[in-house]
Amino acid sequence: MKNRERFIKQVEGAVLGSVVGDALGVPAEFMSRREMQKHPVTAMRSGGAHQQPAGTWSDDTSMVLCTMDSLMEHGVDYEDQMQRFSRWLSAAENTAHGEVFDVGITVQKAIHCFDRGRPPVFCGDKAENACGNGSLMRIFPTALYLCGQYSLESLDHHAAEIIHNTSYCTHAHPRCLMACGIFCNVIFALCSGKPLQEAVQRGVSDALAYYRRTDFFRWVYREFTSLQSIHRWREQEVKSSGFVLHTLQAALWCLLTTKSYDQCVLKAVNLGEDTDTTAAVAGALAGLWYGKEQIPPDWRCVTAHYDEIEERARRFAETIVPEKNRPDPTFRKISRISRVLSVYHLILHCPEGISMEGLRLSLDGCTKTFQRDIALLRQAGENIRVRSKGRVYFLDQGTYAHPAPIKNRIQERLVQKLRRLCLVMREIPWENCDKWYRETFPHVSRRTMQRDFAQLNALGYEIRYDRWPDYDPFDEDAIPPKEGRY
Ligand SMILES: [Mg+2]
Repeated sequence: MKNRERFIKQVEGAVLGSVVGDALGVPAEFMSRREMQKHPVTAMRSGGAHQQPAGTWSDDTSMVLCTMDSLMEHGVDYEDQMQRFSRWLSAAENTAHGEVFDVGITVQKAIHCFDRGRPPVFCGDKAENACGNGSLMRIFPTALYLCGQYSLESLDHHAAEIIHNTSYCTHAHPRCLMACGIFCNVIFALCSGKPLQEAVQRGVSDALAYYRRTDFFRWVYREFTSLQSIHRWREQEVKSSGFVLHTLQAALWCLLTTKSYDQCVLKAVNLGEDTDTTAAVAGALAGLWYGKEQIPPDWRCVTAHYDEIEERARRFAETIVPEKNRPDPTFRKISRISRVLSVYHLILHCPEGISMEGLRLSLDGCTKTFQRDIALLRQAGENIRVRSKGRVYFLDQGTYAHPAPIKNRIQERLVQKLRRLCLVMREIPWENCDKWYRETFPHVSRRTMQRDFAQLNALGYEIRYDRWPDYDPFDEDAIPPKEGRY
């Protein structure tokens, strides 16, 4: 991290900006835009649908605080995050006044699933009607964590996997995952210090370029392309319901069409409907950009536990950004088979072929290493050809070379595994993956299937399948599968 002090300030601003935005929005939640126009919010108020004192923040902040605590103590640990959410819901931990008064249906259902033994990343609802903003509102600490730990400037497979898995815990629809990914990428761009307009546009367009490459997001991709011109939208076009796409649009629109923190959050609240979450999400961005000093003092002194949260935000920032820029040893550590598969992935997705230089730029290795990897792929039956000029490697999709016999048993097992994984990478459908796998490889065990999928998911694939197809968490008599099984 080049500028540690600046980053710490940005983190504090984001956390406090979000908390104050949430508290401003709570008394106006569920009010229509017309009502808001008649009685606009201009300062902290009490009352509203939840009948809370002025400065009370809601579930958005509670979940953000849980996520921050978990990231500080354990790094990325979905199990621990869910445990904290569960304690918030059942024991009112991390609440403004010891009471949970606002919780989304999808979040509640996911925590219930978790309490009954389901692994965290399988708790989220993937239904079309479960596309609320519940994962978007709590994702920004994860983005800041990734930014602090790895000095990220743009979304990559590793970051996307963590962001998506964080969303999967409560919201598993591709729309929610993609909204979180785009939002986090905007945060990465804002943290890098580019001018506001440029940072948001860069963040959105880079994230869109990332998602365009993935089949899994193809059918929701189009819904997000209009974000590129969000700064030109008129107020009538901006919706502010609890739908994840609306919250993302409204937050970015408020940020780009205002010139200070208070203008931005008040604009978000006065859009009406899901006021607290819209203002919390917009407030995180505005707080990050303008800094905590811009939060008006009369709002600060009413916000519940403001000083305590300020102190916690500082601690969070200092924990997530390492003193010196030391690379995390687990990051980008890659096994031999992962590297061979990455080489295959690049060859597979470059129809014009990829040169040795291209491989060297994309992966960590030298010419000899990649030549050996390609030889291994050929041994596994992949018909990789070389165009002699400039030595460009490409996959001849039509026929597959007859694999040469192998004498070494270890090598033979490796080649067998590679043959299977290459076929999965080439042909797996993005729905009913496990059914396709079992039909394609009828003699391979379920455990091996899980290992294969885990191997590819570690490379950034998005293969989702039900680990326990027969287990229903809503069935009273069902016995939760044991953790050690996978
Ligand atoms: Mg709320």
